[in-house]
Amino acid sequence: MTLVITSTCVDVKDGICTTSCPVDCIYEGGRMYYIHPTECIECGMCESICPVDAIRYDDEVEEETEIPFIALNDAAFRDADGSIIEPGGWKKGDPPVSDPPQLETLFPKKDEVA
Ligand code: SF4
Ligand code: SF4
Repeated sequence: MTLVITSTCVDVKDGICTTSCPVDCIYEGGRMYYIHPTECIECGMCESICPVDAIRYDDEVEEETEIPFIALNDAAFRDADGSIIEPGGWKKGDPPVSDPPQLETLFPKKDEVA
């Protein structure tokens, strides 16, 4: 079990949750933030701080549209071979991690919606 960031963060990404994380395992991506699946110590400190209620324990994500975001948080930290990348912590100013390509399918940019 870990915590994950779900769809309401997309294109909001104010970064407030990063200030609550004791191990800096919330990483900025291009369109949203992601929680690292192995660096997260599951302290729960970030869960209630999000203004759009995007952060959940992965086993509490029930909405069908949100379930793919569990894999998406994981995919943000996998290399081309599928191995986990452990950067060791994120801080403001670090380059963003790449959004997994599945994000565009799950949540097309507004100006690309027909
Ligand atoms: S506080 Fe919520 S909206 Fe802001 S970056 Fe974190 S998960 Fe995204
Ligand atoms: S549960 Fe704790 S360790 Fe995990 S992302 Fe949230 S604040 Fe960081």
